[in-house]
Amino acid sequence: MASDWLPQRCGKVRGMGKSFDIGLERLTGAGVPPLGETQEGGLKPPLQDAGATGSTFYLETFGCQMNDHDSEKVAGVLLARGYRQVDGPEAAKVILYNTCSIREKAAQKVFSRLGELRPADDQEGKSLNTEDTEKEHRVHRDGRVMEKNHPSLRKIVNAGGGKIIGVLGCVAQQEGEEIFERAPWVSLVCGSASYRKLPQLIAELEAGNRRVTGLDTDTDETFETEITRRDNPWRAYLTIIEGCDKACSYCVVPFTRGPERSRASASILEEVRRLAEAGYSEVQLLGQTVNSYADPSAGKMRFSELLATVAEVRGIRRVRFTTSHPRDFGKDIVEAIEAHPTICDHVHLPVQSGSTAVLRAMARTYSREEYLEKIALMKAARRPISITTDMIVGFPGETEKDFEETLSLLDEVQYDSVFAFKYSPRPNTPSLKMPDAIPEEEKGRRLAILMDRQREIQRVRNEKLVGETFEVLVDGKSRRENQWSGHTSSNRVMNFASPERELLGDYVQVKAVSAMPNSLVGEMVGRA
Ligand code: SAM
Ligand code: SF4
Repeated sequence: MASDWLPQRCGKVRGMGKSFDIGLERLTGAGVPPLGETQEGGLKPPLQDAGATGSTFYLETFGCQMNDHDSEKVAGVLLARGYRQVDGPEAAKVILYNTCSIREKAAQKVFSRLGELRPADDQEGKSLNTEDTEKEHRVHRDGRVMEKNHPSLRKIVNAGGGKIIGVLGCVAQQEGEEIFERAPWVSLVCGSASYRKLPQLIAELEAGNRRVTGLDTDTDETFETEITRRDNPWRAYLTIIEGCDKACSYCVVPFTRGPERSRASASILEEVRRLAEAGYSEVQLLGQTVNSYADPSAGKMRFSELLATVAEVRGIRRVRFTTSHPRDFGKDIVEAIEAHPTICDHVHLPVQSGSTAVLRAMARTYSREEYLEKIALMKAARRPISITTDMIVGFPGETEKDFEETLSLLDEVQYDSVFAFKYSPRPNTPSLKMPDAIPEEEKGRRLAILMDRQREIQRVRNEKLVGETFEVLVDGKSRRENQWSGHTSSNRVMNFASPERELLGDYVQVKAVSAMPNSLVGEMVGRA
């Protein structure tokens, strides 16, 4: 379900990496800093690199927050090498797509985008196997309509100038060198565990190599860089654990992002301090299973201790974390939230199914009852904690009774939002070979029922909040006069009215006056 107040989920596309979604409108953020200067200020890339290439890059991101943040790091590294980021592929020497393969549709989008860049004289490329690109392939063979679909990109690529086209991220890792077969105009393929090598890979291409890859996943390093080019001026993302060691039977992440690697706590805390000094008031700790964090340093800080320590950094007003795995979610995390008002009162705890039988087939490592015990910990907390989740419908073998159990879980937990997906069979995953596949139409039916049920739950829950006052971090300004938007600590979107001239980045008090399933409407009543 496309809720408007939850973290972005896999499957979305963001271009350029220069602007960010703010609910009411798209606003250009701090933008791309000039050469030799980063948005954080003070964290300058090495001088000898500045202007070294004078070249340009375009970076488009598909997928989840982890990908968004990876793109921020990639951009930072390239800017430090003297590259300049541009808004469109036309003006770029290097065109990079940071990709997502969590569901088939997400992966198809990338091949569709690559199809747009197919040179007119290409005779080699295999079918890109998507609706869009299949159409193009036919067009290509009869040689007539190629430019009709995507004239500007085609002209740009055909004009030559030796553009470098690269595929990064999960599709790169999953498809590997096969991408060169399917789209021979691609010359760089690099998975997330190898981003550290990107400048070197690009340099090799510029030196005349035809194709380069970075596809190792057996690294024990995390991709840390001080020169991250952050897109949002108030909220900073920080990866604390990369990869995933869980083996959910439907999921490509363990194949595409490699094994779990945690970042040393001292390094995380050092970066949080620098971020606070640079003016960021909110940090979001990221990981596919963020609460499986295992400090590699001697201190062996637990995840809950790390949360508490980050929450105490001077200048930090909000700490978020996503995504938590139910197996590693314990009372200590709830206690940390209770003890530190700066830790936001929101936990995203994906369940995937309400049926223990399906959870078993998914290899999720917990039963419905065990999951509900974790929910009970949060419901018993001294301050209300907003709970959100992910669900998959139509997993192979999911019976009508299993699906009913998922619906009854919605009623029982009363989530504040749910991201629901139709099961998508993915390469290499054990569920690919499971019997009793559910037809697409039936998956669609179940998804619609689930979303309707959840929408009603959210409507009722949000209506109960009318009359309450919330602290809101203002991150959006509407084109309509005096209209602003922001997020509460529980991560709800609050749209509100205020005659103030400038509020972006401020914390304000807003009283909710009406409610919708995905957001609240309020009036500003003061500064926080
Ligand atoms: N690590 C997180 C966890 O364990 O819950 C989730 C990360 S995954 C990138 C985001 C969500 O995508 C999952 O929670 C799941 O609901 C969904 N997802 C993953 N693989 C899927 C598949 N093959 N088909 C449909 N949805 C899928
Ligand atoms: Fe995928 Fe499961 Fe790992 Fe989440 S915990 S990333 S769903 S394998």
